[in-house]
Amino acid sequence: MILPVTPPAPAPTPASRQVRRARARQRPAAQKQSQTQEIMSQGAARATARATAAALHQAGLTEAEVLAWRQDLQARLKVIQEHPEQHLGHIEEQLAALAKEPLRLAAERAAQAKANATPCQCHQCQGALIDCKYLQRHITSRFGRLTVWRHYGWCARCEAWDFPADHVLGMPSQAPASPYLQEICALLATKMPPEQATEVAQRLGLDLPRCTLDREAHRQGLKAQAMRTDWLAQLDTWESLQQLARQTENPASQPFTLIIEMDAWNIRERDDWGQTETLREQGQKVERWHWVYTGTVFRLDHRTQTQGKRALISQRGYVATRAGLEAFTAQLYREALQRGLLQAELVLVIADGAQWIWNFAQDRFPNARHQLDLWHGSEHLWEVAHDLYGKGTPEANAWVKPLLAQIHADQTPEVIRTLTELHPRLSSCLQEKLQKQIDYFANNAHRMKYQAVMEARKACRQGKPTLEQRRLADQPLGSGAIESTCRQYQCRFKRTGQFWTTAGDEALMCLETLWRNGRWHELYSHVQPPAALN
Ligand SMILES: [Zn+2]
Repeated sequence: MILPVTPPAPAPTPASRQVRRARARQRPAAQKQSQTQEIMSQGAARATARATAAALHQAGLTEAEVLAWRQDLQARLKVIQEHPEQHLGHIEEQLAALAKEPLRLAAERAAQAKANATPCQCHQCQGALIDCKYLQRHITSRFGRLTVWRHYGWCARCEAWDFPADHVLGMPSQAPASPYLQEICALLATKMPPEQATEVAQRLGLDLPRCTLDREAHRQGLKAQAMRTDWLAQLDTWESLQQLARQTENPASQPFTLIIEMDAWNIRERDDWGQTETLREQGQKVERWHWVYTGTVFRLDHRTQTQGKRALISQRGYVATRAGLEAFTAQLYREALQRGLLQAELVLVIADGAQWIWNFAQDRFPNARHQLDLWHGSEHLWEVAHDLYGKGTPEANAWVKPLLAQIHADQTPEVIRTLTELHPRLSSCLQEKLQKQIDYFANNAHRMKYQAVMEARKACRQGKPTLEQRRLADQPLGSGAIESTCRQYQCRFKRTGQFWTTAGDEALMCLETLWRNGRWHELYSHVQPPAALN
């Protein structure tokens, strides 16, 4: 095969020394000139953008823009239509990509028109601003980067510069992202680690750099905490407390039982990171693990079943805080008030045997019925059985069965008697262990009342329950609801190798709790409140 031969490029003519020097002298001048021209053209473009922005008073797209968009749309859809391997996913991708620029333009113009319509008055005191100027701002939005021009001026009364349109647009001075993206940052950060969140956002077509996500999520967490502080202040005066009790969410038409469950788990923090040795040398104790107090509140009539017979609580309140027991008790009490504490026919507190829980329950819910988680009590009996006869042995099984039946029949004093009679016959090591269990049952005996619920359930199974038994059968015997709540929080806050700062975890936990409680719209006014579930 004869390959075509490319003709060799002509060799450059060597320039004389004088010519090279002359060119070198001219170059800086030419560069300078092009820089000056660039600055002038940038200035002209800015002046045009400013004038266009200032003249905008109505949002929307022009006929020509809509027409161009429609033509582009038809051309792209035609390609997919004729492509044998492209499906609905390709249509979705193309439509989303195609809509982005027109939507960005519409959003930018709508924001600009709103900014232009905002009077140049201080947003705090409504006084006229002086020394007014017009300045642009870039905002990362759901549809891409927006540029908005807005007036700002000096308020002599407040002694501050003010950008009134920023407040109208929901854009605090430090926020790089639009209100929608502020919300999305908060939501993503509560659901997954930031590196994953950035990738998920990108896949969903949102331009959210990691630094924006981190900064915004933390800022939103602080906003949520400030809101929570305001809500807790309602507990401080009798009037606001009464008002809160009257504003019970979804008031019930029938008498109802309110269930309150609580527990604690720990989280790993790294405050004083790198100073461990120094602090230890100074005799200070360095704690990395800290308690997160968690609670849940729900009405028994909100317990239901999915079509697949899975138990479900349709409406419930959550509390989770790292800010200590006192903060937790106030938050849980407020949540209980909002969920109908003062209207409930019966309030039932269910938990494991931790003393702090019963102290708190006695203090805040003295009229409630306190119930020890049935399975927790049973586990203590199994521990004795294993100590006596060995784990998994038929003897252990045979020994524990009648005692478990006694617990189900509200005969805990009988169980204590059996354990006490056993005590002198054991070795000193086992005696010590057994004494702990005897104390446990003695301390909790008055919280171990399960018989009525057990019998109600049996009557339901046999198909002949009384009306009262039908209601009772739904009453929980254990604190499974709070255990699953703790596990759900831990999925985000207790991952392997994960460390938090106190400020960081509390802010995110506050956001997560707001979301779970269905009060997201109270933090973000652009979000629709959830429809009542019953
Ligand atoms: Zn002012």
